[in-house]
Parts: sequence; C-alpha cells; structure tokens
Amino acid sequence: MIQENIRNVQEHIVKACERSGRDPKEVTLIAVSKTKPECMVEEAYAAGTRDFGENKAQEMSRKYDSLSKDIRWHMIGHLQRNKVKYVVGKACLIHSVDSVRLAEAIQEQAQKTDVIMPVLIEVNVADEESKFGITTEETMSLVEEISKFPNISIKGLMTIAPHVSNPEENRWVFRKLKQLGVDIKDKNYNNVNVDILSMGMSGDYEVAIEEGATMVRVGTSIFGERNYNI
Ligand SMILES: *Cc1c(COP(=O)(O)O)cnc(C)c1O
Repeated sequence: MIQENIRNVQEHIVKACERSGRDPKEVTLIAVSKTKPECMVEEAYAAGTRDFGENKAQEMSRKYDSLSKDIRWHMIGHLQRNKVKYVVGKACLIHSVDSVRLAEAIQEQAQKTDVIMPVLIEVNVADEESKFGITTEETMSLVEEISKFPNISIKGLMTIAPHVSNPEENRWVFRKLKQLGVDIKDKNYNNVNVDILSMGMSGDYEVAIEEGATMVRVGTSIFGERNYNI
C-alpha cells in the first residue's frame, strides 16, 4: 500500500512538473513519517525513498539510530532550543529555523560537534496566529543575522500553508515564498543560498510545485491518516 501510494504521489509530481515546464529531478519528495512506526519507514525505504520528515526531535533521533544510515532525515517541526542536541549531526536539514535564539543554540551545538548545519528559514507567509515561523517582513533581517553564524548554512525557505479545501487558495502563499527567495538572492549575503523552497503537503503539493517548490513534504498521502491517540 505504501509503495503504491509513493508511486502515485511521484506520478502527480511528474505531472505538475510537466504542467509548469520543470524537471522532476528538481523536486525532492520528503515522506513525512511522524507518528508512524519504523516498519512503515522501512516499507517506504524499500520503495526507494531516502528522504523522511519528522517533527519531533526525539522521535527523529530514535529513528535515525535504529534505521538505515543512508536515510536523510529532515527536521520539519518546531524545534525547542533544548532539543537541538538531538537533531544537529543527525538531520540533513532543519526546515524550521524562525528565530535568532534558536539559531544561536544550533550554532553552539554545531560548533561543539564540529559540523556545519544546513537550515531553512520558516516563514509564516499567511500570517496565521496558530503557526510558527516569522513574518515575511521580518525574514530579510533574520537571514542577515543568521548568515553571520559560521556553523550554520542557510539553504532556503520553508512555509506551511493554511489548511484549505481547494489547494488553489494557497497558490499566492507559494508564489510569495518564491518571490521572497528571489529578493534574498538579490542581496547576495555571504553564506546564504536560496536554492531550496520547502513547500507543499498532501493537500497542495502539486500547486506548490507549479509555483517552484524544490521539496514537498507529504505524509498522509503516503502513510495514511495519523492517529495521535495511540
Ligand atoms: C505533518 C507535516 C507535513 C505533512 O502533512 P500531510 O498533510 O500529512 O501531508 C508537512 N509539513 C509539516 C511541517 C508537517 O508537520
């Protein structure tokens, strides 16, 4: 079932790329395995998936320790400063950096363990109160601040779009994140890249790809609904 779901999502990715004149190789599918057991990750792994997303530091760390070492783990959830130690050195990319204070904690841990930690800046494009991420207006100054941290490498931007019934309603969100990336690139900050745009989830990843997503984070369409009560 998981393998079939992955094939199905990949087909939709290819079609969205065709519609927008993009090369499917530019788009990385991240299978969001949060709350799901290791055996389901292994099933997706057998289907060829190597990029997995988790939103809890300890859960990601546990899965990193017990599963194949060629898996690329993406930290996509809100990260508390005291949990940074579980993530630096294990995650290939932290998608959710939204404050200087968090960046300071990442810098400290990365320096201690002698690594350069790649990160994305999480932008709350739609300005939803329930969501983490900084506002579009604050993004430029945050990027400039964090670009000075020697053990952090900014690779791009991430957003979580609102929950909508019609994915077209989120098109402007994705377009705005893409434009913000272009504006940052124009500033030519040292140590800052904006090659990665992490946007689009099960309900809206096709629209996100049409608007330039290079990483889509898909959970439900691959692993089924999540049950938070178990
Ligand atoms: C859970 C989660 C996803 C996946 O959501 P689905 O709707 O299940 O595809 C994507 N991004 C983030 C940040 C998440 O927390």
